[in-house]
Amino acid sequence: MTTPDSQDSCDVLVIGGGPAGATTASMLAQRGIRVVLLEKARHPRFHIGESLLPANLPLLDRLGVGGKVRAIGMEKWAAEFISPWDGRRQEFEFADSWDKSMPFAYQVRRSEFDEILIRRAAELGADVIEGCRVTDVEFCADGRVTHVHALTESGIARSWRADFVVDASGRETLLGNRLQAKQRNKRHNSAALYAHFQGARRHAGKRAGNISIFWFDHGWFWFIPLADGATSVGAVVWPSYLKTRAKPVREFFLDTIALCPPLAGLLEEASLASEVEATGNYSYACDRTHGRNYLLVGDAYAFIDPVFSSGVMLAMQSGMAAAEAIAACRANPAGAARALRRFDRVIRHGPKQFSWFIYRVTNPTMRELFLGPRNVLRMKEALLSVLAGDIFGRTPIWGSLRSFKALYYLISIMQWRRTLRAARRRRRNMAPVDAERMTRA
Ligand SMILES: Cc1cc2nc3c(=O)[nH]c(=O)nc-3n(C[C@H](O)[C@H](O)[C@H](O)COP(=O)(O)OP(=O)(O)OC[C@H]3O[C@@H](n4cnc5c(N)ncnc54)[C@H](O)[C@@H]3O)c2cc1C
Repeated sequence: MTTPDSQDSCDVLVIGGGPAGATTASMLAQRGIRVVLLEKARHPRFHIGESLLPANLPLLDRLGVGGKVRAIGMEKWAAEFISPWDGRRQEFEFADSWDKSMPFAYQVRRSEFDEILIRRAAELGADVIEGCRVTDVEFCADGRVTHVHALTESGIARSWRADFVVDASGRETLLGNRLQAKQRNKRHNSAALYAHFQGARRHAGKRAGNISIFWFDHGWFWFIPLADGATSVGAVVWPSYLKTRAKPVREFFLDTIALCPPLAGLLEEASLASEVEATGNYSYACDRTHGRNYLLVGDAYAFIDPVFSSGVMLAMQSGMAAAEAIAACRANPAGAARALRRFDRVIRHGPKQFSWFIYRVTNPTMRELFLGPRNVLRMKEALLSVLAGDIFGRTPIWGSLRSFKALYYLISIMQWRRTLRAARRRRRNMAPVDAERMTRA
């Protein structure tokens, strides 16, 4: 470890300035808590994950950035699911979900969106230091974090003592790795190939900003129209398919798109406007959400799959919960364990709710239910509330969701041969591959 050139102290040190870290820092600074946020990059920087959920909007308003995000966002009123095998498509309008007060969300360029959030944290009083990578975290015998060490772009080693540390380092999962707490998700495994296009054909009018999800033989695609005319397109594929790659990532991605004619049709006149990127084996969770004086938020705790565009909302929600827990611990140290247990419940809730759907989204029974939803027992409204991210408030969707799940199991049993075939195929497709090699350009 390098000897620090300077040592500082603060109440809370946040590692990472994506949506989770910036939200945590903003909410803490708003309460007058001395918070330092260290971000290794400099904003604006590229990040994948452009589709927000309606449940993001109240969070943005709480941070005071609703107007700024509106200015850069493309309105997203619905999510559309398309089955290329039989041409069926189903559009879910968020206005039809249980709580009618959240009818739309935005598609955003993450470089712009994340910059709005991190600048807001600074505006509210957080000490935001960009170009400063956290290199190590020191613990004492009772499991508390004592020091956080970092290195600036110019090679200066710095160190902080903090009462609390929040790991918001995203997929770098700094504390998860340091504590060997990160575990590969055994129930899910996929990889993504993605890029931006110019000139893609979109829906007209109000529907222009809707997200489209196309199933295909090896997984599914997203199609996310952005406000500046670009469109984010990504393929989320099984590892078994990635393993067949014998070409550079760019060509492999374009060939993959050609396997889904309805999507290829939308891109007929379009051209690539970015490099093609790839990410493999990205489904994981840490075995804990917190320790005595540290908390894991956003992707630093868990990430499952982007199919329901839940990542940014869960990251921001967990940032809010972390700030609340830390403020409660500081106000009443005797009640710290209770506050942290509450945080634990909130942060586990999101991945748990979404994962039930994620594990089944490429299953034929689930596809059938998505393509022909009925509002019996308000099941469609409840499903739409999940798609809108409305799972943390008081909206009483749980009984109807249980009915939806019961219906899913009933159809699966009635179609047991198909169910068994799909389960076998999923197991075969999911076997891990050397993702690092397979996603190299
Ligand atoms: C293929 C794919 C598609 C996705 N699509 C969507 C989508 O459409 N909608 C959606 O909501 N979500 C999507 N997601 C998920 C979403 O991008 C993430 O869930 C979200 O960005 C998590 O926010 P975060 O703040 O936890 O992490 P991040 O946004 O990754 O931020 C972490 C920050 O920490 C910084 N950092 C890392 N290590 C260090 C360090 N050592 N020191 C200092 N700083 C550090 C990084 O530079 C980064 O700025 C997608 C994810 C993938 C993989």
